[in-house]
Amino acid sequence: MGSDKQDTAGTTRIVEVLLPLPLPEPFDYAEPEGMALAIGDIVAVPLGPRTARGVVSGFRPARGGNRPLKPVTGRTGDPPLPLRTLEFALWAARYAVDSPGAAIAIALRGLSAQPLQPERQLIRTGKAPDRVTAARERVLAAASELISRSKLARDAGVSDGVIKGLLDQGALQIVEQARRSGLIPPDLDRPATPLSSSQAAAATALAVKATTGGFSATLLDGVTGSGKTEVYLEAAAAALTVSQRTQVLVLLPEIALTQAVIDRFAARFGAPPAEWHSGVPGHRRRRTWESVASGEARIVVGARSALFLPFTDLRLIVVDEEHDGSYKQEDGFIYQARDLAVARAKIEACAVVLVSATPSLETLWNAQTGRYGWLRLTERHGVAVMPDISLIDLRASPPEAGQWLSPTLILAMAETLARGEQSLLFLNRRGYAPLVLCKACGERLKAPDSDSWLVEHRYTGRLICHLTGYSMIKPDRCPYCAAKDSLISIGPGVERVEEEARARFPEARIAVFSSDTVRDAAAARAMIDAMAAGEFDIMVATQAAAKGHNFPALTLVGVVDADLGLRGGDLRAAERTYQLLTQVSGRAGRRERPGRALLQTWTPDHPVMQAIAAGDRDGFVAVELEERRAVGLPPFGRLAAVILSGPDAVALEGFAQVVAASAPNGEGVSVYGPADAPLSLVRGLRRKRFLVQADRSVDIQAFLSAWRSRVRPPSRIRMTIDVDPYSFL
Ligand code: ADP
Repeated sequence: MGSDKQDTAGTTRIVEVLLPLPLPEPFDYAEPEGMALAIGDIVAVPLGPRTARGVVSGFRPARGGNRPLKPVTGRTGDPPLPLRTLEFALWAARYAVDSPGAAIAIALRGLSAQPLQPERQLIRTGKAPDRVTAARERVLAAASELISRSKLARDAGVSDGVIKGLLDQGALQIVEQARRSGLIPPDLDRPATPLSSSQAAAATALAVKATTGGFSATLLDGVTGSGKTEVYLEAAAAALTVSQRTQVLVLLPEIALTQAVIDRFAARFGAPPAEWHSGVPGHRRRRTWESVASGEARIVVGARSALFLPFTDLRLIVVDEEHDGSYKQEDGFIYQARDLAVARAKIEACAVVLVSATPSLETLWNAQTGRYGWLRLTERHGVAVMPDISLIDLRASPPEAGQWLSPTLILAMAETLARGEQSLLFLNRRGYAPLVLCKACGERLKAPDSDSWLVEHRYTGRLICHLTGYSMIKPDRCPYCAAKDSLISIGPGVERVEEEARARFPEARIAVFSSDTVRDAAAARAMIDAMAAGEFDIMVATQAAAKGHNFPALTLVGVVDADLGLRGGDLRAAERTYQLLTQVSGRAGRRERPGRALLQTWTPDHPVMQAIAAGDRDGFVAVELEERRAVGLPPFGRLAAVILSGPDAVALEGFAQVVAASAPNGEGVSVYGPADAPLSLVRGLRRKRFLVQADRSVDIQAFLSAWRSRVRPPSRIRMTIDVDPYSFL
């Protein structure tokens, strides 16, 4: 390849290469003679002045007269992207109304770290050296197994010169050894946990689906502590016995939850599974990527982007805590991983199981209408019973002025403490106080570049914007009127509840669990282990600790503000509140000792509070589904948001009018907006929103891409499409 352009007359094929960039289509390159590329191959191609990595997505015959194309530089040496992974990424891009390159970028993310160099090791050749010395004998004895040069010198206690001499004489030889993944294959002969009859029935049903192959989707719907994890472990075991290459993917909504599940897989199969999330360092992610592509990684436990890994023989996808809103990726490539998991299972022709104690309404609807299988576990395992949930009517039992814990809750905490048991106080608010205002002028302190209140954090003495991370030292004068010592903290966050609990129970050991006190997976694990070991009496926690964990001595859950989630008032507010409060309450009494949950509410008559207190999920779901049906909201209709953002209010308004005028006419589709977004200013960018509502029968993706193709955002304005939005801010 002398020149950088190649006349396509000299090649037989044009190669279409998808680059991990927001481009609407693949780029064309010439295939150099003899390269014999295949779809899925990962190649290096020239892109402007640099070289980029891309995926071969198709070929066209080169006809004479085509403009000259640059040739593909070559394969990168990475394993190819399996065809079904490529198909999935393209499907996901269409679903999200985003560019194929944006999805490919996620699929190739594991390759961003450099591949590890092969290890060079020394072995004996059997040839005797010309002269035997004591040092040489020691080297040859130590080189009986594969060993690196430096370790050999150390083990034999010789200088490198001795080794060089033996190499020169051919008594030792260097071999290159590919680095191994370090993964130990699962031991499928280890005994399974004996399951109860209802657990066994569920596990068998899933095992049959995973082993017979073909697409199936199943809801595993079991109360907290019913053994859902045990059930899917056995389904995984069955999927892995199909052949030595079959694979299982377990998705979890949060990194903090991965460790517990990894430990349970390690205990069941004698070896830890591969782990995949943003907290895993780049070189380990590359190794995992490669071992998933080679089929060596049999079990992957990870966060949502693990869905884009290059599985070659996937048999089972588990989506644990499937209702969790964290499955919705909100920036960059916007997708709902639970929904994409079902799509991936269809493409792979494998089984997917959606697991939850509080399934999403969408999934329940699919189960009720028979689209998904439905397995139910209605009791906790063993002697553990469901916690007793009751409401504390704050109107009747209000906290003292400036306090947040009602006398009823304080009494329950005192009893729990006296019995040597643990309490969890739940409040889904980080920091000390969600709002700081000036009592002199009444101004609320806001971030300078965003339309959001600053949250007071006392541990750090800062005021922080939770939206953008902007922060400042808490001033001693009001920034608006300059009054001194006039700033007052309004409302509680976890730090303030901790302060109150400390004042009430000075002898108790208290910990705060929030993303501020627990910054990474290791810290989360340490905190969870300490709680499980009984090192704290009271844990004050945001939702970071609400999910999944088993704390044997935890018998009281106090929800400080059960009404909090209902105030946002978006489509899923009631559903989310129901799920979260049920999950939090489910932390209590997971072992021998019965637990109770006390929910502080100002609205005890609200249907959500009534349903939770009565344990009436089915009733709640029926009412909620009926309300959504009446107004055509998901799962009965489709929604999408179109969000415009830009620094200049006038330009943004002008463009919003152009976008509004360009909306295609579609039967069964209504477009609302443009309206100022509730968060109308973020990081100096103004935001406007459209809401698209469509009948279920409408191809909303086709509508949205037609719409987008009609408008061209000016340079500093961004247009984002969010299919099935979860956030309406
Ligand atoms: P879930 O996933 O439904 O919350 P888990 O699978 O975590 O439930 O089970 C709750 C607890 O009960 C765990 O400590 C688990 O080890 C235990 N458990 C569940 N089923 C069994 C079983 N069949 N034998 C022994 N322990 C079990």
